[in-house]
Amino acid sequence: MRIFNTLTKTVEEFVPNEDGKVAMYTCGPTVYHFAHIGNLRSYIMEDVLEKTFCYLGYDVKRVMNITDVGHLSSDADTGEDKMLKGAKREHKSVMEIAKFYTDAFFADCKKLNIKTPDVVEPATNCIDEFIHMIEALLEKEYAYIAGGNIYFDTSKLKDYYVFSSQSEKELMVGVRDDVEEDSNKRNKSDFVLWFTKSKFDDQELKWDSPWGVGYPGWHIECSCISMKHLGEYMDIHCGGVDNIFPHHTNEIAQSEAYLGHKWCNYWFHVHHLNDKSGKMSKSNGDFLTVSLLESKGYNPLVYRMFCLQSHYRKPLEFSYEVMENVAAAYNKLLNKISELKDDGSVDNEKFRAFDEKFRDAIGNDLNTSMAITCIYDVLRDDMNDKTKAELLKSFDKVLSLDLFAGGAKAEVDGELEAYILSMIEERKAAKKEKNFVRADEIRNELLAKGIIIEDTREGVRWRIQS
Ligand code: AMP
Ligand code: ZN
Repeated sequence: MRIFNTLTKTVEEFVPNEDGKVAMYTCGPTVYHFAHIGNLRSYIMEDVLEKTFCYLGYDVKRVMNITDVGHLSSDADTGEDKMLKGAKREHKSVMEIAKFYTDAFFADCKKLNIKTPDVVEPATNCIDEFIHMIEALLEKEYAYIAGGNIYFDTSKLKDYYVFSSQSEKELMVGVRDDVEEDSNKRNKSDFVLWFTKSKFDDQELKWDSPWGVGYPGWHIECSCISMKHLGEYMDIHCGGVDNIFPHHTNEIAQSEAYLGHKWCNYWFHVHHLNDKSGKMSKSNGDFLTVSLLESKGYNPLVYRMFCLQSHYRKPLEFSYEVMENVAAAYNKLLNKISELKDDGSVDNEKFRAFDEKFRDAIGNDLNTSMAITCIYDVLRDDMNDKTKAELLKSFDKVLSLDLFAGGAKAEVDGELEAYILSMIEERKAAKKEKNFVRADEIRNELLAKGIIIEDTREGVRWRIQS
């Protein structure tokens, strides 16, 4: 398995600490709003990474946190807690919105066939662990108290900017909002480990600590939660590129200061999904969700395929035009696969040869578009149907596109049906107004999604293309 490591900025051979085992950590969502499809691009690609490890024979333990406290509106420790902002917006308590959006996140993941990590730990479960690590950092003089808060002293490290070949501009990608100067900090890059004083003193969730009643900083969460479940040595840590700085930089600083040795060997970062106006962001409230895609008639797995068709290390621009094309290709593919006959016996030689190609693709820094090409190569080959079916079932363990859910057997859920019916009504109205251009547009839009409409004497009928 070869994988790009942000630490070294090169594609490296993956060598885990323990033979055959992978200790993997994923920065989880901040649950103050729905996840947007940009966030979900990161989780889809991390899911493919986990499943690739498994496919290649590794035993993976994957841990993810849920950020339900401490993530301020700017990643540079300023602004209000995002959770509190979300709670105010919805006139609910922080724990109420945490529960609601955590459930919504996993519901979206399920629709996208993203496996739930082995361990999911909300930050508010681990306050004792945070306090313990901060006490140790104070004792080792890597941390200091100023103005009621505890800060990490970045000047104590030989190399704070570990992702050093990143330019300052690249690093600042993570600083999502305007940065305010905090005069308590000894160095500009120092960061908060524990707050007891902030200009937002109506923080809802607070805990007793040796330094007074307060709450943890965001970065300490991931260090503690990963160590709690994966121990002192981690193989691979994942997130979106905006996490490189300051979040992951700070995680490394405090973890290695605490442990006294190297903590994590590989850093995996997924590039952003952008829309035409730029990076998709949760904080501006205007963003694309899985439910929105569904309400427009898309199967969420079409979005998964949209993501798999491009490389995770390239920025990806979302457009409905491309989604239409992917939807059409996806439906065609599923129809073709549904026609495979499940008889005969597997041609082992062919199986091995095509499986090898697939392994090479995913094992080469997750070349998912090449992996999708492998599907078409199998379908085009003259091997028997049984071998084709077995190969595609096998590939789908990683791609998770429900390759066998298609064709005449496709199940139409309520939301898709409601969409189809509303399109048929709109087409009827367009025809009544003699707007035949619009009527044709609607027919074609449905056709692109694999839905055929027929005008019959009894009215309009629809069916899934077989
Ligand atoms: P958050 O819920 O804001 O903490 O973000 C959850 C995950 O989504 C993090 O790993 C981010 O790095 C990632 N992320 C945020 N915005 C995007 C985007 N536009 N495209 C891809 N990943 C993103
Ligand atoms: Zn994190």
